[in-house]
Amino acid sequence: MARVLIIAQHEDGALNPATAKTLAGAKGLGIADIDIAVFAESGAGVAQQASRLDGVTRVLMIEHADFAHPTAARIAPEIKALADDYSHILGPSTTFGRDLMPRAAALIGVGQVSDVQEVLDSHTFKRPIYAGNAIVTVKAPADQTVVATIRSASYSAAAEGDSACEVETREAAASDPGHTRFVNLETGGGDGPDLQTADRVVSGGRAMGSSEGFDVIYSFAKKLGAAVGASRAAVDAGYVPNELQVGQTGKIIAPELYFAIGISGAIQHLTGIKDAGTIVAINKDAEAPIFEVADYGLVGDLFEIVPELEKLI
Ligand SMILES: Cc1cc2nc3c(=O)[nH]c(=O)nc-3n(C[C@H](O)[C@H](O)[C@H](O)COP(=O)(O)OP(=O)(O)OC[C@H]3O[C@@H](n4cnc5c(N)ncnc54)[C@H](O)[C@@H]3O)c2cc1C
Repeated sequence: MARVLIIAQHEDGALNPATAKTLAGAKGLGIADIDIAVFAESGAGVAQQASRLDGVTRVLMIEHADFAHPTAARIAPEIKALADDYSHILGPSTTFGRDLMPRAAALIGVGQVSDVQEVLDSHTFKRPIYAGNAIVTVKAPADQTVVATIRSASYSAAAEGDSACEVETREAAASDPGHTRFVNLETGGGDGPDLQTADRVVSGGRAMGSSEGFDVIYSFAKKLGAAVGASRAAVDAGYVPNELQVGQTGKIIAPELYFAIGISGAIQHLTGIKDAGTIVAINKDAEAPIFEVADYGLVGDLFEIVPELEKLI
């Protein structure tokens, strides 16, 4: 039985674009039947959005009060309960998927294939290792369920099709394991677009010098309608919260436009922006490594250049 199940990521009643990117990756498997599972307290809107994606066979809508704030601990047993019907179970390589899918894999009793960037065949995948400096080809055992996360930055979202597929309502099949509960959600990145899915991102580095210095970045990003990111040096210095970090140990992103401002371009930072479209670097050091990957470079003091640019927009 070859059948694919994708676990939908959604927030505030909207399907996260990472789901359509996971679908794009799933299409490479060469398997015709692709289902999407929506776990939600009230999932009709999200299920409808998922049902319109091109290439989806069926949407499973599983509603329960527990899924108002879905925790990985609560959803992983639900995935296990569905697993027998599927040869492949996929999630996005976002924070949501990285939390959830390994738990599901452990319950099913298989290893997870992480961060798939290319599907060679139904059981053979390419994924980055060593901060993206090498690409490894991995082969999953043919006699086991494949549980994998799809690297969102490597795929463009699957488009909407001409018609919607069937939405099937299912009952929640597992019970709350009781050891994990949702307490509170706090976001520190301001009210701009989501860093992981934004088309435009403006990042600041150590050169911002302080939290107040970072206001230059927030103001410029707001003018551009961009999400705000940061280097690890800026995060470690306490200028901005941890969730803004871009790079190997932060978020891997693929915006169409990326501004690296006062960022030197260390390999661990570049890992996070490898799939960005156009990269613009602003740095006072003309020899900074960021200029080796930048499409456009401005050499000079960011505290002069950025406000000037902002005025021009
Ligand atoms: C295991 C590991 C994981 C890591 N993970 C990450 C990660 O996920 N993300 C990440 O970013 N880093 C990561 N790092 C850290 C990384 O190696 C670098 O230390 C970090 O990216 C440097 O940040 P930066 O470019 O802001 O600072 P610096 O390297 O200090 O660069 C600051 C830049 O600002 C420029 N500058 C200074 N003043 C001005 C001004 N007024 N106008 C214009 N330009 C100015 C300087 O010329 C310089 O190029 C990791 C390191 C390790 C070892």
